[in-house]
Amino acid sequence: MHELSLATSLLELLEERALLDAFSRVQKIVLKVGELSGVSIPALRQGFEFATKGTLAEGAKMDIIEPPGSGWCFTCERTVPLRDPFRSCPYCGKSAVTPTGGMEFMVVELVVL
Ligand SMILES: [Zn+2]
Repeated sequence: MHELSLATSLLELLEERALLDAFSRVQKIVLKVGELSGVSIPALRQGFEFATKGTLAEGAKMDIIEPPGSGWCFTCERTVPLRDPFRSCPYCGKSAVTPTGGMEFMVVELVVL
């Protein structure tokens, strides 16, 4: 499961930071998960809960910001909303849309003890 390995990498990142910044608990983690990132948020939450059992991040609250997907249409020559990276332009129906936003997967903020 893709989301479980993401959750495990997140935990590794938190453990590394805990050593650097000398904290022992993560109370809250804020993530940015773009609409086009391909990450299932329910699966990520579940994976995170599972991966963090018995660790410094057990029970941490997870807030997720979901930037909407967008892309550049070469036909309309403008940025258009994009719900799916393989979807065509909602205005002209042509498929020449290059995703430009909503692909993020990153930690934005940590609240630690
Ligand atoms: Zn278009």
